[in-house]
This record gives sequence, structure tokens and C-alpha cells, in this order.
Amino acid sequence: MPLVTSKKMFQMAYKNGYAVGAFNVNNMEITQGIIQAIAEEKAPLILQVSRGAREYASNSYLTAIMNVAVKENPDIPIVTHLDHGDNFETCKQFVDDGFTSVMIDASKMPFAENIKVTKDVVKYAHDHGVVVEAELGQLGGIEEDVVGVDDVAKHLTDPNQAVEFVEKTGVDSLAVAVGTSHGAYKFKTEPKLAIDRIQEIQDKLPGFPLVMHGSSSVLREFVDLINKYGGKMPNAMGVPESAITQASKMAVCKVNIDTDLRLALTAKIRQVFAEKAGEFDPRKYLGPGRDAIKAMVKHKLHVLGCAGKAAECL
Ligand SMILES: [Zn+2]
Repeated sequence: MPLVTSKKMFQMAYKNGYAVGAFNVNNMEITQGIIQAIAEEKAPLILQVSRGAREYASNSYLTAIMNVAVKENPDIPIVTHLDHGDNFETCKQFVDDGFTSVMIDASKMPFAENIKVTKDVVKYAHDHGVVVEAELGQLGGIEEDVVGVDDVAKHLTDPNQAVEFVEKTGVDSLAVAVGTSHGAYKFKTEPKLAIDRIQEIQDKLPGFPLVMHGSSSVLREFVDLINKYGGKMPNAMGVPESAITQASKMAVCKVNIDTDLRLALTAKIRQVFAEKAGEFDPRKYLGPGRDAIKAMVKHKLHVLGCAGKAAECL
């Protein structure tokens, strides 16, 4: 059964010190680039769909593309995941549509309300054999709005709250704020991941899988290509890959990567346009873009340590 929940994946990832890559699906080429890399590296996979992707491509198209990926790769365990579900109804819809994992993100609500809505989603999802990820804390660059060390700590996930949250909701995994941030402009200065905070949460919740959002590295080679070929991305900066590897060896079992996919595709398309000004066949620039995504994802699977781990997660 290649379409699976993340239960076994996270058990193996936790035990054997790696993280599974969760890549965002927005169109066919991106999905194919991801799946080709996964198939060659024999890695477990989480394919996820965000609200923006749903609005852009429609859920039915994205689901159809993911279903083909699942069908054509019977040896690869694949999770289909809703990224940042904003309320119970959205999560319910994705459970009903056959996704194997949903995220309820009520992290902007007060703690008690976050617990309540997460608990409701967990109840419905578990009744239908689906797993749930929730979020606690505020994602953002450590350096943002910082005047002192105490301020940094305030934005990060509180380890004691994490324990209470997990116990009261019965959630399967938890996205934590440990210094990562969404997008390509995460940090103003050298980024830092709060490894101590991961350790503190891990110590209080042994065996429980954690998730890192906003974990693209904003790879220099792509930013440079974009800037070289007419783009303008000054000061784009991400989470260093060495820190991602370190976290992957700890309780972090799922690492979300979206921005790096976008950068790889955009850099390659810009290069083709600059070098072949007469090109107007979309296959001639989307194709190379897909190849760039494949190469980038293959590299990431080694950063996360999940290359070659497909079989043990089945
Ligand atoms: Zn996210």
C-alpha cells in the first residue's frame, strides 16, 4: 500500500535519526521533479497541498496529479497531506477526499481555543484513519523584532505548553516554532535554529514527532542564478542545511520545503529565457525547470538523511 499515513514513517525517522521531506505540490512539473528524485533515491515522501495551491490549481487537479504519482510508484510510501488547514471544515473536507494526513493550524488562536479546535479535528480524522499535525508557537525569524534574548524565547514553542497540548488533543505530530520562518527572506542576519529548544521539547515529549515549517535553505546557487539573469532577490537567506541535518537527527521527523522548489524552478526558467531568447515552447523551459527541481530534491534527501529509507517505512 504506497498511500500511507505518516505513522510508520515518523516512528522510523525518530528511531533512526532522519526526517522525511514534505514538499509542496503546485503543478505537474513540480510534482514530477519531486517524484523522480524520490524514486531514484528510494525515500519516503510527504506530498502536501497548501491553501494557495488549492486556490491556484484547484483541489481536484492537484489530487489527480498526486494520485498518479502514488499509482506509478508502488514501492514508495507516500503521504498526501493538507498543509495549514485553517478550520475544522477544511480539515474534514480533506479527510473526506481521501488525504491521509491533515494539519490544523490554529496557532494564532489563544492556547485553549487551539486545543479545542485541534481536538475536534483529531477526533474526526482518527475516526477515519487519518493522522493530524497541529502547530504551537509563532513561526518567524529569531532575529525579527528582537530586542533581547527573552523576546526570542517568547516567540518559540513553550515546552511545558507543548506537553499539555499533546496530552489534551491527542495530536500525532506538532509543528514547533524553533527559529524557522516561511519564505525567502527569513532573516536579516545570520540565521540561527534554536537547537536547545528542540532538545527541551524532545526531553519533555520523548518519542513524539516534531515538524519544522519554513525550512528551506534558500540555496545560494539558485538565488545567484536568479540575480544573474535579470531577477532581483537581494538578501534572500534561509536556514543553513547543517542545522536542518542536526534537527533531523533529533525529534524533528518532518521538514517542510517549498521555497527551495520555487527558487530552483524560477532560476532555471530565467536561465533558459536569457540564453535562448527565441524560445516560446513551454516544454523547453518547464522541462529544464523540472530537472532542476529533481536535482535539488535529491540533494535535500541527503540533507534530511531519508534517502534509501523507503522500504523501512512501508
Ligand atoms: Zn508552514
